[in-house]
Amino acid sequence: MTVVTVPAREGRAVHVQEGQHLRITTPKGAQAADFFAFNAHNVNEWLSANHTWVTTFCVKPREGDTLISRFRRPMVTMVKDGAEGVHDMLIAACDQFRYEFFGHKGPHASCSENLCVAMRRLGHIVDVIPQPINFFTNTRVEVDGRLVSPPNPVAPGAFVEMKALMDLICVVSSCPFDLKVDGWTINAGQGPTELLVEVR
Ligand SMILES: [Zn+2]
Repeated sequence: MTVVTVPAREGRAVHVQEGQHLRITTPKGAQAADFFAFNAHNVNEWLSANHTWVTTFCVKPREGDTLISRFRRPMVTMVKDGAEGVHDMLIAACDQFRYEFFGHKGPHASCSENLCVAMRRLGHIVDVIPQPINFFTNTRVEVDGRLVSPPNPVAPGAFVEMKALMDLICVVSSCPFDLKVDGWTINAGQGPTELLVEVR
């Protein structure tokens, strides 16, 4: 078994072989985990949220759902949801410009940057930031179409577990979002915390 701690505000890549299980845990709770997956043999094939919507008929990943690539091939099945469905796959990965949009001055860590750094360590340049699966985020669509992100209720120790359906490189980012934006809460009030990634 491989165990990787993703430090708060950082990202890490792990290899997951076909048939292996990947578990992502928020030990302190309420920490958004941006999740990306690439075909280990062709990183131009990545996990695609919006291709998945029309095969699962849902904008959230749920236990039992199979998530597919942009070439519409099965990449992972979510075998266990230990976070009571508090996820989304609608919100783009945060980046420097989003923090500037919210008024932040100067450089800010981001999930986009975390992805690029983690993949570069393995020798891959990421030109396009895929839409992540956002685990442990309380973002949802209201009946009138509005997006809301109320305070994050995810309990300490909550997790998701997926089974790889092809050889993958998976990247997990501890979302560094720490700005105070009215009505838009991503992480717990005390700020970003670490994530645990296990491959078995
Ligand atoms: Zn983020």
